[in-house]
Amino acid sequence: MRKKTLKDIDFKGKKTLVRVDFNVPLEDGRITDDTRIRAALPTIQFLVREGARVILMSHLGRPKGKVVDELRMDPVAERLADLLGQEVSKVDDCIGEEVKKAVAQMKDGDVLLLENTRFHPEEKANDPEFARELASIADVFVSDAFGAAHRAHASTVGVTEYLPSVAGFLLQRELEALGEVMENPEHPFVAILGGAKVSDKIGVIRNLLDKVDYLLVGGGIANTFLAAQGYEMGESLVEEDKLDLARDLLKEAEEKGVELVVPTDVVIADEFKPDANYKVVPVDQIPADWQSLDSGGTETLKKYTEIIKKAKTVIWNGPIGVFEMDAFAKGTNAIARALAESDAKTIIGGGDSAAAIKKAGLEDKMTHISTGGGASLMFFEGKPLPGVEALDDLE
Ligand code: ADP
Ligand code: MG
Repeated sequence: MRKKTLKDIDFKGKKTLVRVDFNVPLEDGRITDDTRIRAALPTIQFLVREGARVILMSHLGRPKGKVVDELRMDPVAERLADLLGQEVSKVDDCIGEEVKKAVAQMKDGDVLLLENTRFHPEEKANDPEFARELASIADVFVSDAFGAAHRAHASTVGVTEYLPSVAGFLLQRELEALGEVMENPEHPFVAILGGAKVSDKIGVIRNLLDKVDYLLVGGGIANTFLAAQGYEMGESLVEEDKLDLARDLLKEAEEKGVELVVPTDVVIADEFKPDANYKVVPVDQIPADWQSLDSGGTETLKKYTEIIKKAKTVIWNGPIGVFEMDAFAKGTNAIARALAESDAKTIIGGGDSAAAIKKAGLEDKMTHISTGGGASLMFFEGKPLPGVEALDDLE
């Protein structure tokens, strides 16, 4: 790590502003998955033990710069208090007099949670005055929000202008796990890329073509590659305006000696519906009124699984089918199982891929599942993350 971490600061008595990623899924005001809160616990517990005054801030959902009562942080404060076994105070704004008063009353080891930073439009605009306000209550800043590190917002980047700024344990762990495979992977190095659209993953594919030995594509992305090779994809999701690009990428892969593998048989359906009729067909036999919803053909999975078996390093981003519908989750589940059984280092980036692995109950079998969908994607693109760049460099 080139950046300062928790080890580089004496936190005793320090008012410590911590950007966490508490952007948890909510249903009727209840948290349905507290993974992100749990992921921040090591840093919070460390700071409490060191005697810091821990002031936490996060965004939650998309309130679009206005106060939205359903997106208040109160349920998060409650869950965090349960997990910590300690009182967590909560204020109803992230700047202003109420916040200053609450901070003034804190003792060493206390934990305070600020209100949703995105209630202010200045957060996403990275407004310097707003960032200065946020920073004004603290002596030091810790960033532990890997999931927000790809965004240059006031709470991730702006505040670092005004405070000594270091990485927390989660951020550090993410950067080390993802950094190691990108900088120093053991070969064979296999990337599996799925998801809906090639356009979301162009940067990732380009960057990975310089690093991997195999690139297995699946899902909607595979449809576009197959269409680019001349197959009739029927009603499948295909990005017509990306066919040339897909052809370029296929050529680029060949020139670089990367085996870019596309499905040879797929699960097709007569409708985009959980209870549609479906069957497995070779990719040259897709009827005009059917669509490919899962790269889970028998032959394809056999080939993908064999390649995964040989791998020493695997990164996976994007389900290879519409895994939200059970009928089209076969390919995605098979990939998850192959990774679970593999001895390779397995790194999962991407919100939906992580969800698919959890749904299959295989999260303990992976080397690392990133907590940041967008951030891990940006990392795989080889681009610097603004929320990391802004932290203090190690001298
Ligand atoms: P991640 O969040 O892991 O980065 P993406 O968001 O890129 O993954 O893609 C996930 C989405 O891609 C899922 O909602 C899934 O239904 C969709 N998808 C996968 N395969 C197909 C397909 N063949 N046709 C349409 N959508 C697909
Ligand atoms: Mg996604």
